Amino acid sequence: SDHALVYPASPDVMDWELHYPAFAGTGKTPEFADVGCGFGGLLIALAPMFPDKLMLGMEIRVQVSQYVQDRITALRATSTAPEGSTDPGPYQNVSIVRANSMKFMTNYFPKHSLTALFFLFPDPHFKSRKHKARIISPTLLAEYAYVLRPGGIVYTITDVRDLHDWMRTHLEEFPLFEPVTEEALRAEGKGPIVDAVYTSTEEGKKVERNAGEKWLACFRRIEVPRV
Ligand code: SAM
Repeated sequence: SDHALVYPASPDVMDWELHYPAFAGTGKTPEFADVGCGFGGLLIALAPMFPDKLMLGMEIRVQVSQYVQDRITALRATSTAPEGSTDPGPYQNVSIVRANSMKFMTNYFPKHSLTALFFLFPDPHFKSRKHKARIISPTLLAEYAYVLRPGGIVYTITDVRDLHDWMRTHLEEFPLFEPVTEEALRAEGKGPIVDAVYTSTEEGKKVERNAGEKWLACFRRIEVPRV
């Protein structure tokens, strides 16, 4: 449970250089956050596509987060840059924390620091008395809006129609988000991200094997609240 979790008191005390030693001294903080990243498929797919952007997975399960940590360590060790190159090599820009994102989002990320926030195949919590355990809720949306930079995108996808409606409705009703279509995202060059959202995660692949449907809903963090 949570009491064993170590978390930063505020983003200022977060030592990102431990997570991204190749970026030490750059002052960079993560721009992409994968909430409930599971086995890390999305981050591993995106890391080489955006080598200058830092990305962080948050995962609450001890063994799963350790697995992702080991996976990143192995990828960093085996994929080196060409001989003589000063490029640190791929996967230096990806890391993970074991964290309860429902409690500690703002402990990790400074205000307006994220340009992308991912909720891919989150746990559905089917029973209505468990809906408060869902990763999208009005209270949590205020935190997500706080850490997202205006213009930043929230990507959600699920194979559970009821959860899709839940996430979409809450985001639509929140004044700091506006819906953005898949076509619009592709038109602004975010097609590779959308593709990774659909297919790169372990849960997404499982849905494919079972020929399940996938429901995508994306939103832009806007500057001025809608009235
Ligand atoms: N996104 C991954 C994928 O698409 O393969 C994993 C999906 S899995 C169904 C949901 C994940 O969210 C699980 O690994 C679970 O441990 C994690 N999770 C649930 N609640 C969380 C929380 N409050 N903070 C961080 N991770 C959480």
